[in-house]
Amino acid sequence: METYDIRFPTSRELDGSDAMNPDPDYSAAYLVLRTDAGDGVEGHGFAFTIGRGNDVQVAALDALRSHVTGRPVAELCADPGSLSRDLNGDSQLRWLGPEKGVMHMATGAVVNAVWDLAAKRARKPLWRLLADAEPEWLVSQVDFRYIADALTPQEALDLLRRGREGREARAADLVRRGYPAYTTSPGWLGYSDARLTRLAEEAVAQGFTQIKLKVGADLEDDVRRCRAARAAIGPGVRLAVDANQRWNVDEAIAWTKALAAFDPYWIEEPTSPDDILGHAAIRSAVAPVKVATGEHAQNRVVFKQLLQAGAIDVLQLDAARVGGVNENLAILLLAAKFGVPVCPHAGGVGLCELVQHLAMFDYVALSGTTEDRVIEYVDHLHEHFVHPVHVTGGRYRAPSAPGFSSAMHPASIATYTYPDGTFWAADLISGGETA
Ligand SMILES: [Mg+2]
Repeated sequence: METYDIRFPTSRELDGSDAMNPDPDYSAAYLVLRTDAGDGVEGHGFAFTIGRGNDVQVAALDALRSHVTGRPVAELCADPGSLSRDLNGDSQLRWLGPEKGVMHMATGAVVNAVWDLAAKRARKPLWRLLADAEPEWLVSQVDFRYIADALTPQEALDLLRRGREGREARAADLVRRGYPAYTTSPGWLGYSDARLTRLAEEAVAQGFTQIKLKVGADLEDDVRRCRAARAAIGPGVRLAVDANQRWNVDEAIAWTKALAAFDPYWIEEPTSPDDILGHAAIRSAVAPVKVATGEHAQNRVVFKQLLQAGAIDVLQLDAARVGGVNENLAILLLAAKFGVPVCPHAGGVGLCELVQHLAMFDYVALSGTTEDRVIEYVDHLHEHFVHPVHVTGGRYRAPSAPGFSSAMHPASIATYTYPDGTFWAADLISGGETA
């Protein structure tokens, strides 16, 4: 198991800027699992961070190494849930969570690397491996501790058995037509109105039926930007807005109502990701504007409560925030049980590459629908991936390469490893002026 601190200097173009994160340097705490199976197959995984602290995240990966190395690879790939349980169950590391924050993100990165390895060894893209799997085995991969009051193993089994009906036709449809996407690229807070308008018009021309704008720093600016965006896209395209946790509950309600004239489809992360009852209060006050959250929800327990409290209309799971594929299976099953659409969070570094597999599995073999479901798409940093996402006509095309699409090019790793990669070493000499 090798680990890397990889950082991209995205803050220099204000790519990714929002009301809470004005200058992100999109980063990955990255790991590679190698085996002695002799087939050259590797497992790649990562946690996404935005710069400072990526070294802390890498240290958390390193703390898990002893649980991973030395395991028989065939056994590990046949039951990634066993590793997931061991990582979550390390009684000393558990104190640093439990099941939240830096350690949990590290667990997710390691578990996802194992799923990448398993899918490559099975010679299937991950979405296909999951969609082909027996419902009983999928249920065995889920940790029902703390969620069994909302979803029992038997209910999960029933959902998966029902989800399999017609899956071949849906898999064929997915391969033929792809999965709907929406784009956040026009809406970063640091972009000028002219750039916003141009990118919004381009998005509609490219076939997107939903775009998203960052809001929450200044109400007058938001009114002006939402007006510009709505004028650019017309009435028939959905306009989502995202406050990135900026507000108190009452502010969120007032601010969202002040933008209602522009017909926002959802308000995303209106307040603290931990505030379940706050989201419920906002939702009841701002309807028919939908409430969406989840990219910072720490684990399946928070998602369970958001659903139980009727606090969200849209569930935005993230592939690299929680404890990996196993926990995201639990979250997809909870969403299916409560009938709430999943519109995954993506962007960052490689999050689009990962999360497409989970949404596609959900369509083919669980919820069985793409209605009111879209995967976030941001057109940044894909060139660093060996199998980048392919989005055309406003839709993600189904990946065909084996694995989890998580591997970066070795040259990108060598260039952007911090602080000794070639980019950062040169940057240090030039005093931070390297573009
Ligand atoms: Mg967001």
